[in-house]
Amino acid sequence: MSEPGWFEEGARVAVLTAEPIGRPLDYRAPEGGCYNGAFVEVPLGPRKVLGVVWGAGEGGFDAAKLRAVNRVFDVPPMRDELRIFLERMAEYTMTPLPQVLRLATRAPGLGDPPGMRKIYRLGDREPSRMTDARARVLEVLEEHGGAGFYLSELAHLAGVTTQVVKGLVKTGALIEAEVPRDQPFPRLDPARPGKALSEAQAAAAEALRAGSGAYSTTLLKGVTGSGKTEVYLEAVAECLRKGRQALVLLPEIALSSEFLSRVEARFGARPGEWHSGVTQSERRRLWKACGAGEVQLVVGARSALFLPFRDLGLIVVDEEHDSSYKQEEGVLYNARDMAVLRASGCSAQVVLASATPSLETWANAEAGKYQRLDLGARFGTAELPEMGTIDMRDEAIESAHWIGPTLVKEVLARVAEGQQAMLFLNRRGYAPVTICRACGHQIGCDHCDARMVEHRFLKRLVCHQCGETKPIPVKCPSCEVEGKLAPVGPGVERLAEEVAERFPDARLAVLSSDLFGSARALKEKIAEIAQGEADIIIGTQIVAKGHNFPRLTLVGVIDADLGLQGSDLRAAEKTFQLMRQVAGRAGRAEEKGAALLQTYQPEHPVIRAILGGDEEAFWAQEAAARQAQGVPPYGRMAGIILSGPDLQPLFEIGNHLARNDAALRRIGAQVFGPAPAPIARVRGRHRVRMLVKAEKSAPLQGALKAWLKGLKLPTNVRLAVDIDPQSF
Ligand code: ADP
Ligand code: ZN
Repeated sequence: MSEPGWFEEGARVAVLTAEPIGRPLDYRAPEGGCYNGAFVEVPLGPRKVLGVVWGAGEGGFDAAKLRAVNRVFDVPPMRDELRIFLERMAEYTMTPLPQVLRLATRAPGLGDPPGMRKIYRLGDREPSRMTDARARVLEVLEEHGGAGFYLSELAHLAGVTTQVVKGLVKTGALIEAEVPRDQPFPRLDPARPGKALSEAQAAAAEALRAGSGAYSTTLLKGVTGSGKTEVYLEAVAECLRKGRQALVLLPEIALSSEFLSRVEARFGARPGEWHSGVTQSERRRLWKACGAGEVQLVVGARSALFLPFRDLGLIVVDEEHDSSYKQEEGVLYNARDMAVLRASGCSAQVVLASATPSLETWANAEAGKYQRLDLGARFGTAELPEMGTIDMRDEAIESAHWIGPTLVKEVLARVAEGQQAMLFLNRRGYAPVTICRACGHQIGCDHCDARMVEHRFLKRLVCHQCGETKPIPVKCPSCEVEGKLAPVGPGVERLAEEVAERFPDARLAVLSSDLFGSARALKEKIAEIAQGEADIIIGTQIVAKGHNFPRLTLVGVIDADLGLQGSDLRAAEKTFQLMRQVAGRAGRAEEKGAALLQTYQPEHPVIRAILGGDEEAFWAQEAAARQAQGVPPYGRMAGIILSGPDLQPLFEIGNHLARNDAALRRIGAQVFGPAPAPIARVRGRHRVRMLVKAEKSAPLQGALKAWLKGLKLPTNVRLAVDIDPQSF
């Protein structure tokens, strides 16, 4: 940024309001001036809002006529590096800057006085008298594994008054302790020796070390268990040795204590953590320590990318292909791509780790834009599972059953030998559809274009789009006939019933996110399974990621065709990644594993590729197909989503846009639609989508801006631009 960093007259301020304000506003600088990037409080209408100084203002204004900045907070200003990154991200994602800025100011705690602060922790006595409110407080503390909370935070989380918390202190059930507000993070020691690396690992680690200190992106590819984590921890060590900070991004679900313990074993202390389970006070502490350079390594979910690092030298994106890196609400961005953007502005190295990279990353490596490092086999003696299909056309299967005789036999054989088997079905709940056998009506959500899914465990119907639930009705809501509603198709809960019926002697564990009250309960279950306290594991998507069950030797996929339906051009890629990942759960230790896919189309090219056909050939074929269609990663794509309470106006606006597409045609872009969005109604709002497709080198954002400029929308209609949409 060219402006000098100190302003005495006017200051432009990016304000942090809930409503999107398109651009920074001009204010009079406070008495004595302020820094670029300073956190300030400014008046906005009748309100006082938080903002960040964003340049010197337009100039040519009469400073005396502007409203003045109220106060400047006594915290380090936001660095140019982060401000420039946010600006570029706002431009790339076509989001107003203040909205992007909000991502980077999630936990500033600016008004906090320094010094000591009281925290509240679990004591070792039971309260003499237990009430619902007291029980909730204790529950919150237990769920967070003994962490300490500030008074107001604890009361808020438990939904009780602060008096309840204080009352518990008197009974001895809680302990009140004084701690320095910002306890330092423990030092990590990069000089501690890591594991002795295999030849392939050592070569990869050496290549990463050689690239340390400058911007570059590397794809680190290797099957699950090949030792990628060990390799990128070496890159972390090198970064720390240089005195710079490192960030490891993981899908939220993979942020396990197992991973944190591994970091601790390697560096002698735990890293900073940033994810939805971290308390607000902890977030503030980490946020400040990042800026002060006092935390060396942060392990976090995608939003950790916006922390104010003092000197970020490395970003690892583990499981880089994971769709949870794409934020689908608010600011629409892919954290993997934004990691590359941020790193390029601060001379940081990026490592994208995956067993099944996204086609985007694969293509960037092919094109030589990214370095590629391969770890071939699994580390040590563990071998890749043997893969096979079960042709469901040949299986004699009863109705309302989904495990064919072949799979039953295989499971029995494993369990008889004291091994574990896993049955994978990527569908939560009991049954995906509830149908009336009298009139054929299917129960749908009142607010979304989605069917209600029966959840027996919750004893309710649940909408997987908006989360709305309702009791399972006795009468059909359409024809009012009683007792005719029936579940159709399997979810994991129904599969569990079948397993209990077929394998009455086996110990069964069901892993599905909604069967556990808290992340901690789920983690405990996973630890139990790892110790062998289950014979058959039934799971949804959450079992596919990163858990290590040493005794698991068989993975059975109930319905391998599930992801191949529909018209999404990414379906092949997604199915390939998921199936390979699930199969990778089998045979992690000494025992060789097997993965069996139940399918009605064993000859389908994607199924054949999953079975261990030549993986590079599969990617090349996928790449050729996308190239022929001119879609990502070989073309550029944007989704335009119009949403509002009524369908008709959305189509009218869409058609108007489609007709007036000169700005797009100028860059050779095409517009498709309007058409109902993949999810055509959510939370009572209709959604209509248009897709814009352009050549790789076309200036897409500029053309979109020109195209949408001056568009007047009714107040209840929203337009969102989704650059690089997940489905197309
Ligand atoms: P990935 O990240 O590719 O799934 P990991 O790094 O988690 O693989 O390694 C798989 C398993 O092998 C882990 O239990 C890890 O501790 C072990 N492992 C990996 N590399 C080594 C090594 N060089 N020496 C000893 N154990 C290793
Ligand atoms: Zn809904």
